[in-house]
Amino acid sequence: MVADWLYGCIEAGGTKFVCAVASTTSDIRERVSIPTRDPASTLAQVVDYFRRMEGEHGAIAGFGVASFGPAVVNPASPGWGRILSTPKPGWSGIDTRGVIAEAFGVPVGFDTDVNSAVLAEAAWGAAKSASSAAYITVGTGIGAGIAIDGKAVHGMRHPEMGHIFPRRHPADLAFAGSCPFHGDCLEGLTSGPAIERRWAKPLSQLGGEEQDIIAFYLGQLAVTLIATLSTEAIVFGGGVLHTQGLLDKIKTAATLLNKSYCCDDGEIGMIIRAPGLGQNSGLLGALLLAKLARGSTP
Ligand code: ZN
Repeated sequence: MVADWLYGCIEAGGTKFVCAVASTTSDIRERVSIPTRDPASTLAQVVDYFRRMEGEHGAIAGFGVASFGPAVVNPASPGWGRILSTPKPGWSGIDTRGVIAEAFGVPVGFDTDVNSAVLAEAAWGAAKSASSAAYITVGTGIGAGIAIDGKAVHGMRHPEMGHIFPRRHPADLAFAGSCPFHGDCLEGLTSGPAIERRWAKPLSQLGGEEQDIIAFYLGQLAVTLIATLSTEAIVFGGGVLHTQGLLDKIKTAATLLNKSYCCDDGEIGMIIRAPGLGQNSGLLGALLLAKLARGSTP
């Protein structure tokens, strides 16, 4: 029976690979976190783990890889699944999807971690029933996944909304920004490293003034999404969002910036949301990719 098929889920991150076997969102049987080192030894460990899981739980019918980017996400491309140019040593050009497909001989779905997260949130989580949804992670960088009618937006490559250019906060004009490409793009102003570089502490240990500055920028991102994609649900996750009260500050900033234009004031607070799947958005996104690759419905 289709519902009993077992899937391999891989959330491939720059610092760790979270791997799990699951049949449904409520049946995650085993999970392991493998530190991301060089590609050969990391992927060998991933393959070993799933071989062991097959021994314990039975055959795996399909895999999903929710990967850090940039990566080739178009299934029609010959390079589908490859990591593009990345500062992560050794990982440029690596094909995690291909390694898994070759090792196990079953269908393997692939997308970015944030595209996978938005698909999972749209299928099962905080963005359920939203025809236009976004998942934003604010951590070591800014990642943005966008789903329209349950399909991840790929386009030319995949969305890179961390690299848009926000209006500067009047109390934050001295900082040049930390993005090696653009300086004061959104990622260069609001990522965890950008926050630590200008204030020497994580946002959770800083005061309301610094948090208001970060919320001002992330509020602009929210209004930009609503204005361009008529987004019905914007899910904010990632380490920086663990800062108590930040999500509410983003709602307030976005409401002030929007000036009741794209939607009513009260609606912004409904559109901006915490993840419905907690820390599991990416991993369950991998489960969804595996199901789709196997031809199952999520
Ligand atoms: Zn940038």
